[in-house]
Parts: sequence; structure tokens; C-alpha cells
Amino acid sequence: MTHPALRLFLLLLTCAVTFNANAASTIHHTLKITLDPSTSMIYAEDTITLPDHLARQPYFEFILHADLNPQSTTHTVETVDTPARSIQHHYRVKLNASNQPITLHYGGVINHPISAKGEQYARGFKESPGLIDKAGIFLAGSTLWYPVVPNQLVSFELAITTPAEWTAISQGVRQLHEKSATQQRVEWQARQPQDDIFIIANRYHEYSQSAGAVEAMVFLRDEDEALAQKYLDTTVQYLAMYSKLLGPYPYQKFAMVENFWDTGYGMPSFTLLGPRVIRFPFILHSSFPHEILHNWWGNGVYVDYNQGNWAEGLTTYLADHLIAEQRGRAISYRRDILQRYSDFVSDGRDFPLSQFRSRHSSASEAIGYGKTLMLFHMLRQQLGNREFVRALATLYRKQKFKITSFSDLEAAFSQSSGTDLAPFFEQWVARSGAPALTLGNATVHKKGSRYRLNGSLIQQQAGALFELQIPVMIYLEGEREPHVEIVSMNGAQSDISFEFDTRPLRIEVDPMFDLFRRLDNREIPAALSQGFGAEQVLILLPSSEDKALLDEYRNMAMAWARTQPGKWQVRLDSEIDSLPSDRAVWILGWNNRFSHAVEQPLKAQGVALTGKQLTLKEKSLAIASHSVMLTARHPQNSATTLVWLATSRAEAVAALSRKLPHYRKYSYLAFEGDEAINVAKGQWHVLNSPMSLDFHYADNLEHDGFKLIPPPALVQLPAVSSAKRMMRDAALLTSEAAPPHRR
Ligand SMILES: [Zn+2]
Repeated sequence: MTHPALRLFLLLLTCAVTFNANAASTIHHTLKITLDPSTSMIYAEDTITLPDHLARQPYFEFILHADLNPQSTTHTVETVDTPARSIQHHYRVKLNASNQPITLHYGGVINHPISAKGEQYARGFKESPGLIDKAGIFLAGSTLWYPVVPNQLVSFELAITTPAEWTAISQGVRQLHEKSATQQRVEWQARQPQDDIFIIANRYHEYSQSAGAVEAMVFLRDEDEALAQKYLDTTVQYLAMYSKLLGPYPYQKFAMVENFWDTGYGMPSFTLLGPRVIRFPFILHSSFPHEILHNWWGNGVYVDYNQGNWAEGLTTYLADHLIAEQRGRAISYRRDILQRYSDFVSDGRDFPLSQFRSRHSSASEAIGYGKTLMLFHMLRQQLGNREFVRALATLYRKQKFKITSFSDLEAAFSQSSGTDLAPFFEQWVARSGAPALTLGNATVHKKGSRYRLNGSLIQQQAGALFELQIPVMIYLEGEREPHVEIVSMNGAQSDISFEFDTRPLRIEVDPMFDLFRRLDNREIPAALSQGFGAEQVLILLPSSEDKALLDEYRNMAMAWARTQPGKWQVRLDSEIDSLPSDRAVWILGWNNRFSHAVEQPLKAQGVALTGKQLTLKEKSLAIASHSVMLTARHPQNSATTLVWLATSRAEAVAALSRKLPHYRKYSYLAFEGDEAINVAKGQWHVLNSPMSLDFHYADNLEHDGFKLIPPPALVQLPAVSSAKRMMRDAALLTSEAAPPHRR
């Protein structure tokens, strides 16, 4: 998910002032903060101890929120720049030889309303640069609530006073927690270098459970013991699994903190999740472990954003992808990743990983998360599991709390594996684009008592060629598991030739989607994502439909035209003579003139419309009560997709309009009633992929189906009881090294 630290970085890119970017040692803040939610006020005293490289400068320069008016009892504060309409005010303090700590006093109102990001992007959360409010308190580095020096890591002691019923949370360890009739005081200490300081506060109920040297914590706005216990147990399971895999968890606590609006933030040693999000049961084994793992990648080993954000892809690979792997779903997970790249990233929207900062669209997500994830998957294929994990553990040990770039990753993996991985990183990180592969004329000849299979692999993308290790699988007569060959390819074409004792029945190129590549659209079932992701989209309204339903269709079409990416056009089916083949086309209504263009090709997938019933994958659906979405490739151009969306119920259209963008990966969907309750969803079978071929023989040999057997997961999730034992094991204790700073 997203990270507030990143926004600070983006914010500061626009700041013309240059700061010392040396992050060799930290600025230490001793902060005393009082927060008043009823007036949105913050009162602060900050005693700042500078590291040597900053103490030697003539001035200490920092930025602070525009409304906080800093004063000093030890030094003179000068204003450098106070740009209008910006919350970033730039100050400096003249330093003298005595090198004494700088004490600043400041205070004021911080209350930026929570506002929506771009609506077109379905995952877009609402956000705020920071606020102190009766509903809750959220302060991040991007709030500039403490003196910020860009690209400079900090450590801190943070004492916070709030009204009695409020509890404040930050990174690190809680050293003090006391409550009087009128006040609550907490003190958080983070000795490890941090790139941000957060304060989250609310009227929390607190739950905790110890796991060796780490404390699992949960902060909920309403009492809910059962929910808290689920999070505490799951925290211990993932902390144990990742500590064993990568090295000890870098902090002394991990807290799941409920926010007062919907977010999915991962901060060092805690995650801030929205009230709706935390109650979805699937979050425990999807977003939640992802945020836990960010304490290794992103909030443990820090990201050098100037060279590209590698941490999202690695975290997604070792959390979301690993969980798919543990559940036997990794192959379809990777196919979906590649499908999203193929659907959302056209030439104009592509960019190299070195330019990825954070996701802001489906295209940037497909690259920054998807392509990066595949980079790590390919590394693992190339190095093997043991070497891959060893390199990650070495990287973590060496780079913990250091700002780390793709070049550092390349060095770590090259060194650990004894392989020069520079060309590998160069082609996947510095270049945009993806290889597009196809299998060329594969044939089998009998040669004596043996069988020779000849063929070729072809790279057919327009851009530069890639160096690839391509898995090729051959199913042989009488053998259940396929024979696997890895073909090295570094030209436009590689000829392949293999000899077998038994007859080859089928050849498949990269059937487990182990390579990052642009899928041929015949490998990908038609899906709704192609209807939403296309650069040009035409929506055809059914001119013969009754007015109430037609109006609802039109409202939905206009809303998508406004909010979805791409250029959308809305027309009546009576206004055109034939379907264009250069764009995605939505065909709306049971009575649309062009519905046959979808209905016809789908007969091969078991779809049939007879009178008042639609047969869909052996289900019979009454047209009167169901809404249906069916996709098919355009008969004249398999690169474009037709989407047929039909309902008999005007009342259902608003719900469909809201729900469909969340079902993008499906080829077909069926909904029931006015609330549009989903009753069927799925993807079509791939019937004519250019990456596979069946060999036929005169005796029409029968085979009982080809089945890929996915390799085992990189690691398994331990049960709660053994996770607790693992966390007590001395080897997994946290190893907190206090950074040097003067007190
Ligand atoms: Zn993330």
C-alpha cells in the first residue's frame, strides 16, 4: 500500500532549495508535544542535536509547517523563504562553535481536510497532509510538524500529552505511559534511523501480546477483543515467518492501528488501516502481512527514490505473491500481473523501473508493483531458492536503516551469488518495454526409435531484444509431469531441438508465467480490464430500449467517460453501421443491435442465449432477474475487446456502475436483483495460444489432460503456537543497534 513518507519526498522535489543529502548519521530530536483535538492546536518544544556533518555548517536549515512560528531560546531563527500558498516555510538557525543543541518552541493549528485523490483510480484512498481534529490526529513528515531536513534520517524521543481519553502512537518503543484525570502522557523512543516521525492519536482501546522480544499491539477505536486477538496472532505468525526468512524484525513492537478514515499505510513498526479495511476478513492474509513486511523493505531498508522504488515490488513479491504461492495460486497470480501490464501499459504509458516512485494509476501500478515483482521472481528462477533467500538476507543485514538503490540491490545479489547481474538489472531496471514471445513452427519427426522435436522461439516486440532464460515444457506420452528445458535466448530467434524416447504430445512456452513479458492477447482471456483500460473506448447504448433503462445506461456511460482513463465516446447503436475494430467497445442492453458480435464467438465457451434464459458455464440464468457482463475478442482484431453488459432492471444499473470497476480481471460476470449481487464470475479458457502446440498422431492418442504442478512455496506460514516458539528463539530476537548521537 502507500507510504506517507513518499509524499513528503514528492513534495520536496518541487522545493528549489538544496539541502545536504548526506544521511550518514541522524539528527536527534527530543520532542515535547501537547495536542489539543478540540482546538486543532499543537504546542512543541524540540531540542535538536546535529550530527557532525551538519554541525560543521554555518547554518542549520529546515522546513516547518507555515502556521507554527518557530522561536529559539538558544539560537536565532531566521526566515529564509515563506512561499505563499505553500505549507512549507523555510528557516535557518546560525550555528556557533560551541555546538550546543538547538532548542525550538513552536505551535499553531494543523487541520488539513481529508480529500479524495483521482477518482478514476479505483484504489485511490482519501488523504490529508495532516490534521489534529476531534475525529482523530494524523501527523506525518509531510505535515512538517517538526523541523524537517529532506533526505536526512532522524532518531527521536517523543513525549506527547493528550486529553485523558486519547492515546498517541509513534514509531519505536513506548518508554512511558501514564494517565491522570485530565491527561494522558506517552513517550516513544526510536533509536534506529527513521526517515519520518509520525503521531497518530485517537480514543483507543489497546490490546497486546508479547512475541519474544517483540510486542504485538492493536489499537481499536471501539472495543473488539475477538478482532484484536486475530490481529495479534496473525502479527506473531508473520513476524516469525519473515524473521526466520530474512533476519530479525528490526523493531521492538508491531502495532495495527485503526485510522479514522480509510487508509492502507505502512509506517515503521506499525500500520495504519481504515475502519472498513480492518474488518474485511481477507485483509489478515493480504494487505496486513504486506504492511508487516514493509518493516524489512521500505521501513527497514530504506528506498533511494531517485533511482526507483524497488520496495513495493519486493514487498508484494514476498507477501501477496508468497501467499498466493502458499495457496497454490501463484501461476494465475503472475498471469494476472502480466495481463494488467499488457492491458494498461501501452507504449505511451511505459517507463523504466528506475523512474517509479509510487502508484498513481493502473499503468504505474502494473509497472512499479507488477514488473518489479517479476524482476524478483526471475532473479529467484535464475539463482534458485537458497541463493535468492541468502542474497535477500545479506541485503537486509547490510542495508538495514540505510537508503538503498537498485544499484545496491544489484551489488548485493551479484556478490552473494557470484554472478555478474549487471546486464540483468540493466535490461529490467533501466529500460522500459517487455519482450513479446511466440513459438515458431514446432514439428516432431521420428528418427530411428526416437522422436525429434524442432521449433523456434521468437522475440517479436518492436523495441530492443532481451536476454532471456525461457522455460519450455514438453508433455511426453506416458508421463504425467512435463519435461522441462531452459532455453537461453539473446537474439531475435532461438532454434530449439530436443530428442525423446517417447512421443511428445504437447509443447508449452513459459506456461507458468515465470518471465516478465507482454502476453499475446490470445494467451489472455478477454476480460473487463480491457474494457476499462483501453486508450479509446466506445459505448453503444441500445436505441430500442425503454426510456427509463436507456437513461440509466446513459448515466452510467457518462459517469465512466468522466472518471475512467482513456478517451470515451458514447453513441446510440443506431448511429453506427459496423463495430470499429480499433478500440474497446461496450455493447449495452439485451436488445443492442451488436450483441451478436459477443454472443457468436462465445458459443465455444459454452454461452447460449435462448429466449428468456442465458446459459453461462452450465448455469441457467433468467434474463428478467439477472444482469450479465460478457467479454469477447473483436472478431476482426484480437487486440481489442468487446464488452456486452445487459440487464432488464433499470434499478440495477447504478449498482453495476459502482461494482464493475472492482471486477476487472473477469471474463464474465452475472449479478442478481436490483442490488446486483454477484452470482457468477470467471475467466474464459484459453483456446488458441501462440505459446503452445499439441502434436497429433495417426492413432489419435488419448491423453488424460495436461496439468502443471506448481513448485512449492518459498516458505510456509507457521501456526500461531510454533510462531510464538520461534519468536522466543534467541536467533530471532531483535538486534537494535543504537546509532551514535550526542546526548
Ligand atoms: Zn506497499
